[in-house]
Order: sequence, then structure tokens, then C-alpha cells
Amino acid sequence: MKKDYKLPSLNEARKRDKEVSDKVTFFLDEQYKGLGEGKKYHIITHGCQANQRDSETMAGLLEGMGYSPADDEKDADVILINTCAVRQGAEEKVLGEVGALKRLKTLNPDLIIGLGGCMAQEEESVKTIMEKYRQVDIIFGTHNITSLPKLLYEVISTKQRKIEVFSKMGEIIESVPVTRFMTHKAWVNIMYGCNKFCSYCIVPYTRGKERSRYKEDIIYEVEQLVKDGYKEICLLGQNVNAYGKDLGINYTFGNLLNDVAKTGIRRIRFMTSHPWDFDDTMIDAIRNNPNIMPYIHLPIQSGNTQILKKMNRRYSREEYFALFDKLKKQLPGFAFTTDIIVGFPNESDEAFEDTLSAVDHCQYDNSFTFIYSKREGTPAAMMEDDVDRKTKEERLQRLNEKVAYYANLNNQRFKDQIVEVLVDGFSKRNSKVYSGYTPENKLVNFTGEGISTGDIVKVKITEVMSFSLNGELVKE
Ligand code: SF4
Repeated sequence: MKKDYKLPSLNEARKRDKEVSDKVTFFLDEQYKGLGEGKKYHIITHGCQANQRDSETMAGLLEGMGYSPADDEKDADVILINTCAVRQGAEEKVLGEVGALKRLKTLNPDLIIGLGGCMAQEEESVKTIMEKYRQVDIIFGTHNITSLPKLLYEVISTKQRKIEVFSKMGEIIESVPVTRFMTHKAWVNIMYGCNKFCSYCIVPYTRGKERSRYKEDIIYEVEQLVKDGYKEICLLGQNVNAYGKDLGINYTFGNLLNDVAKTGIRRIRFMTSHPWDFDDTMIDAIRNNPNIMPYIHLPIQSGNTQILKKMNRRYSREEYFALFDKLKKQLPGFAFTTDIIVGFPNESDEAFEDTLSAVDHCQYDNSFTFIYSKREGTPAAMMEDDVDRKTKEERLQRLNEKVAYYANLNNQRFKDQIVEVLVDGFSKRNSKVYSGYTPENKLVNFTGEGISTGDIVKVKITEVMSFSLNGELVKE
């Protein structure tokens, strides 16, 4: 195959400028409409909320072309894998899946397999897919999901593989069709990319520079969701606290929260926050708007200041505590969760003890805990990784025990209480039991009848577990 594509470059992707990003309005070209008539698609999504939202965009584009969702990958004419590159394990899982899809291609030679998401932004991953996974027909990046119709058209008309990935800062693309996967909760992007360059993180390279959508476009999207009966939105960004900083306007995330709250949507959530940009306008907006949910996700990553420095997190243990204690004081009754990495290069026993004592200090409602995973191209990948696997696993286990202890302790306050739950449907574990989340983002599994997805109901909590609550519907 003549090389008519450019491999992604992390060096290129590292570049940043201070310009306000371009805003582009998307149009689906007439020649692509109808290309999918009578055909079906299936999307496999890995990773974070941003990827969930991107998969909804991919679905919107495919449905704009006439494709309809397949119940199962076996019935699909197009299969897209939206990948995650945050840890080695995530990448290996994707390669296993791509390998397994080869048999479907044998059964249906016209099947088109596409791979997108963060792995597609990595040079080595694209090379591997190109050389070892010939069943993949399309590779597209995080900056050009909107190229899907064109790439599908080219693969169908030329029977040639198509690779199109841009290593760039990125722009804002508006008016892209979307097929939302839920009818009562919605992801709303407020910004893309990240400029923080934490030393272990591949995201700034795979998702471009921090760029905020215009508030008018965000408010308009939320108003449409309210009209369509949505009950909850989650404002998404790698670092939502930095919203608006790149637009050169005196309008912050706190201002945006106030304006989104005025739309009347029942529940507002947001993620992810970086402690560095958490300011008072945000705290005021959160406190003054009852439809902003009492839940904050505030990653700490490590409890040791030297490790935080090596991670380039830009705050010390003490500075994180100062912010956390202020939030706890000014936002009573809120639930707090965090992210923690164990086994970062040079993490000594003492440094790890600092992480444990940080959890004792913050007593989180829950913590998402991970073993450090080396990401090629990041500064941390150059550091000597001197913590052996056994130690990393022992630390993770000790940390998880402490996390479970505080999760359970925090959940005790809901025992015998009546809580409000937004119903997501039946529990994943038991189809006779409903499940949903409280305002504090607590998972509740409960018995009841005559309710449907999207209802907001009252539930009496009868049993408390570390990571969920059990209860019964309160008839009103
Ligand atoms: S803030 Fe740090 S960890 Fe989060 S996406 Fe940005 S670089 Fe990655």
C-alpha cells in the first residue's frame, strides 16, 4: 500500500500556543448521506467520559449517513473501537479485541473495522495496528472524528485502508450530530484537551491543548437537553476548572456553572477538577445553586510533596489539604472522591505512607486507585522505575483496604435515611432490582415497582455497603 498517511507525532502534539482556538461548524456532506442505508454499526468504547461522549458523536455521524445501531457486533457492517491509552492494560485489552474481530472479517469480508480514540494518537500504536492488525480498515484520531464519513466513503469506494490522524493543538467543532446513549443523563463537553502536562499522563499529547467551547453553545446544548426531558447533565473536561482561561474573556467555570444552573436542568455534575484552578467563584456557584449536585471529584494522585513535584501536579500535600479542608468547611454534606497512583518512580515506603495518611486526612467517599503505568513519550517514562511489581501490588492492596474503610464509614450516614434517586434502570447484577444514583453520587440498588428510567424517586436506605446502598422505594 503506497504510504499516503502521516504517523502521529507526540513531539508535534506537545506544542502549545496562546491563540484562541478556531471554532468550526460541521456539515455532513450530501454525498455521504445514504451511504449507510440498510447497514448497521457497532461501537466499542473504552476509557473515560470524554470517550463515552466521543462515541455518541461517532454514532451521530453514522446515523446521519443512514446506518442504524446493531444489537451485536456480529450483525454490524461497521465496527468502531474507541480506544484509551491512559494505561498499558487498557491498550492490551484493545489489541486483544481487535485480534478477536478478525474472525468476523472472515465471515463478512465487507465488514469495516475502524479504530479511534487516544491510542490512534500514538505513533507506536498506529505502527503496531498497521503492521499486525490488517483487519483494521480505518485509523482516525481524537481531532478528526468528523472525518469518519469521508474515510468510510473512501474505504468503501477504494477498498484501501485509510489512516488519518492529526497531532495538533486542535480546534472547536460545533454542530456535529450526536446520538446519546442515555435518555435521562447526558455528557456535555465544555472544553477539550489539557495543558497541565502531569509527567505520567499521555492525555495532553492525545487530546491537544486546553480549548473551551463558547458559553452560548454550551447553554444552547443544555437548554435542548432540558426540552428533551433530560434530568441530569455532567459538564466534561480534562480540567473543567480552567474553563474560559484560553478564551481571553473574564468568564470562569464558576460563571458558567451559574448560567447552566439557570437553565433549570434538575441535576448538574462536572468532572474532572484539578486542584490548581479551584477558585472561589466556583465554590460560590456550587453553594448557591441547589441543582448543582453535592459531589466533587478532586484527584490528589499522591500524598507526598516530592512525588507530587515529580508528577508535575503543581501543588504540595499541604496546599491540597488547604483546598480540601476549605471545600469540606464551605460545602457541608458534600461527597468527595479522588484518583490515586501508587508505585510512581522513586516512591519510597515513606512517600507511600504519606499517601495513606492523606486518605486518613481526607476520608474520601471513594478513591479510584491505580498502579503507575509507564506511557512512552511522557517525562515520567524517562524516570527509572525502581518500585518492583510486588511492592506496587502490596501498596495498592493496602490503599484499597483503607479506601473501602472510609467509603463504608461515609456511607453510614445514609442508614435508615430517605434519599432521592435518579433511576438508571435495572441493576447490572439483578434485573428485579432497580438502580440509580443519589445527589452525592452514591449508587443505590432498590426494590420497587411502577417506575422507569429517568424517574426521580424517594428510597429508604435499609443496608449500607462500602460502594453502594440498598433500599426500598418509598411510595409517594
Ligand atoms: S490534569 Fe494531568 S492527569 Fe489530568 S488530563 Fe491533564 S495532564 Fe492528565
